[in-house]
Amino acid sequence: MAKQETVEHKYVYAFVEGNKDLKELLGGKGANLAEMTNLGLPVPPGFTITTEACKAYLATGEEPDGLADQIAAHLASLEQAMGKRLGDPEDPLLVSVRSGAKFSMPGMMETVLNVGLNDRSVQGLARQAGGADQQAAGGADRFAWDSYRRLIQMFGKTVCEVPGEEFEHALDDAKRAKGTGNDLDLDADDLRGLVDAYKKIFFKHTGREFPQEPREQLDLAIRAVFESWNAERAVLYRRQERIPADLGTAVNVVAMVFGNLGPDSGTGVAFTRDPASGAQGIYGDYLANAQGEDVVAGIRNTVPLQELERLDKKSYDELLGIMARLEGHYKDLCDIEFTIERGKLWMLQTRVGKRTAAAAFVIAGQLVDEGLIDLDEALHRVNGAQLAQLMFPRFRLDHEFQPVAKGIGASPGAASGKVVFTSARAVELAAEGESVILVRRETNPDDLNGMIAAQGILTSRGGKTSHAAVVARGMGKTCVSGADEIDVNVPQRRFVVGGQTVVEGDIVSIDGTTGKVYLGEVPVMPSEVVQYFEGSLDPEHIDNALVRAVHRIMSHADARRRLAVRTNADTGADAARARRFGAEGIGLCRTEHMFLGDRRELVERLILARDNADREAALAALLPLQRADFEEIFREMDGMPVTVRLIDPPLHEFLPPLEQLAVNVAVAQERGEDVAQEEALLAAVRRMHEENPMLGLRGVRLGLVIPGLFAMQVRAIAEAAVTVTRSGAVARPEIMVPLVGAVQELETVRAEAEKIIAEVVGDSGVEVLIGTMIEVPRAALTAGQIAEAAQFFSFGTNDLTQMGWGFSRDDVEGAFFWRYLELGIFGISPFESIDRDGVGRLVRIAAEEGRAARPELKLGVCGEHGGDPESVHFFHEVGLDYVSCSPFRVPVARLEAGRAAVETDGSDSR
Ligand code: PEP
Ligand code: MG
Repeated sequence: MAKQETVEHKYVYAFVEGNKDLKELLGGKGANLAEMTNLGLPVPPGFTITTEACKAYLATGEEPDGLADQIAAHLASLEQAMGKRLGDPEDPLLVSVRSGAKFSMPGMMETVLNVGLNDRSVQGLARQAGGADQQAAGGADRFAWDSYRRLIQMFGKTVCEVPGEEFEHALDDAKRAKGTGNDLDLDADDLRGLVDAYKKIFFKHTGREFPQEPREQLDLAIRAVFESWNAERAVLYRRQERIPADLGTAVNVVAMVFGNLGPDSGTGVAFTRDPASGAQGIYGDYLANAQGEDVVAGIRNTVPLQELERLDKKSYDELLGIMARLEGHYKDLCDIEFTIERGKLWMLQTRVGKRTAAAAFVIAGQLVDEGLIDLDEALHRVNGAQLAQLMFPRFRLDHEFQPVAKGIGASPGAASGKVVFTSARAVELAAEGESVILVRRETNPDDLNGMIAAQGILTSRGGKTSHAAVVARGMGKTCVSGADEIDVNVPQRRFVVGGQTVVEGDIVSIDGTTGKVYLGEVPVMPSEVVQYFEGSLDPEHIDNALVRAVHRIMSHADARRRLAVRTNADTGADAARARRFGAEGIGLCRTEHMFLGDRRELVERLILARDNADREAALAALLPLQRADFEEIFREMDGMPVTVRLIDPPLHEFLPPLEQLAVNVAVAQERGEDVAQEEALLAAVRRMHEENPMLGLRGVRLGLVIPGLFAMQVRAIAEAAVTVTRSGAVARPEIMVPLVGAVQELETVRAEAEKIIAEVVGDSGVEVLIGTMIEVPRAALTAGQIAEAAQFFSFGTNDLTQMGWGFSRDDVEGAFFWRYLELGIFGISPFESIDRDGVGRLVRIAAEEGRAARPELKLGVCGEHGGDPESVHFFHEVGLDYVSCSPFRVPVARLEAGRAAVETDGSDSR
């Protein structure tokens, strides 16, 4: 065994020993109290017990060795600094015992105030509070007994788990007896009686008297704060906020100062800028003659902080000076808590304040203007999730709207409209100028027209990567999926939710961010930030602080990022929008979407072709249609690379449903009708039926099995590129083969494609690259071989996640992910944010081995993760050349790529 360390571990830090960078050890509150102390600001003296001590206590159920002595030593210094002693019957020192973790967990953990009071020191406190002023004595008596009853209440509840209501009831009884509803009407005698009542309650529940020994009070309170780290609400909060469970909380022991000593005392909270809009100026609330928890409890109404100027100009001016200093020092919006005790200002807390997404951008921009931070730092202080929030229209929920169901927020935004249950009806009503919400159990490729026509999509089944979710995100359309409280009945054109029936034409509103569904129309506000990206708001010429800040920070992100940002788009309109949003190419044009609608019949003919002639006729009919599709996209993306992926649908999406076909044939046979053709179709569909279509005949497999299919697409791409180039624009096609698992698959497709390209392109100057998706784990693991045949790789992280985890992407999120999230197996769906350790490792291996085999290999990602902020940082680290995401997420990816560069490359590379 290693030799035991004999140096005693340091578990307690005086405020003068800490600083703001020690949050991990001292918690946010402790670190910032230390920082303020060292700045010379008026902080009541105190000390912090470290998170290490908490962790040691939680691991063993015992205070670690040395802690008690260290507390005693720091307490002695505190007593000396205050000139008072804990428990002194003449002039007692009182302390507060407060939690404070590395990350703020507001109200989740415990606090005990007024520790140090007992039956004797309460008298001393009264005498001291009254001072020489005889008139004040009555008030002081009242104050002392009120402080004592608060201690018993808080201590009983927090430390000894006495039910809080019992204290509340006793307080109500006292007020009733006095004939008042207001605590302040209770005088010293009433409160003395209340202390007796509280002590009885304490005894009833704990079987012991309220502890009179101050050090015992202190030790028990410290234990209770340690234990509150694992309180149920704290555990839940951490899970929701993704705060690690093993950090522990620090405990701050601070000399009490009192805001409830009369009209020249009070307490307040303040922000150095408006945390809602970011506007300059101070914002806050003040409550005279009160303690902090009265403000939180909302017992009395606060007044705006500016009122303090009238009430106590000296303290007000001092406070303003301190706030300006804190901002200058932290170089950020700070929020503070303060108390004024008889005209003397005390700072009880500060931290870098929480703010809305809009305020985050505005403040970052202002701080650059004020010379407090540089643009790299401004970029670091905002994030993609905030930008995304600013890009979606929002509901104005100031009226009373109650959600009737909650599903998965699958594609953010806010949409209201008439309920429709079929795509055809969606198209009809939209053509009449109506807003519609398409409601389905789940969507399939046939719903595409309806989805385009609809304002929003609501499904009762499916997760974040269900068809509805992926397509809606691609279109930037609001979608709530998997709202399983909704019982959808398409044939009867209605759904039932919570006993209410909603029929076609009724209005519903859906929030694709929260997943909430409302009956009726909730008003919607458009996003100014989108108007700016769309080019309809000019940041140089409008007086809009938010748009100007977004413009400035985005420009810097673009200057700093190494990753290029492309888009996933398969129509000219999407391509054009993505370009306006800053896309630098198309990273994924999914061609299967081009085979729907009236072209579906041709594809069905192709798949079911009985002979070559049949098949060739279908292909010949498809060729010009495909060529026109590609021409449109190449023109929109003039000069930029366009990755066109050869067709990759699961086969069943193009065939009539087996069960329905079987029923139709049986019914027709029963009626004695001639069903020879239907029977042949049924036989073919049966033959091709797959139990696991996502693992079946799709992607490159389809191309190898159906002669001429890929060849037709390659020809259409090459011909379109030549036509566009001859017309003066520049087409830069990249042909991408899906679902490759072995280099031989790619080589086969490539050999055929190269011949066609050479023949079509001739001397037109068009260059066509050929590459592959890496989305089958085997492809990632044999990337070195595959790179020999590929000019680029694009990681299909949707399928790579599906096949890496063995999770069906259409089913699992709605089915059981809630349990996995609850158990903490992962903190977020791996379909949403890349699983760095597993799927990410496959990406890393493929990137390294691919580049080793072919150094100039271009690397990108086109799965949903390409637009996810966290994942963008991962792709930057792995060294990809670009990420590709849906048009609406392009700005988010640009911002995050800039942030990733600033964070990993450091500030010296500017
Ligand atoms: C993927 O699998 O990540 C991908 C982009 O392809 P698709 O989503 O079309 O399967
Ligand atoms: Mg895929």
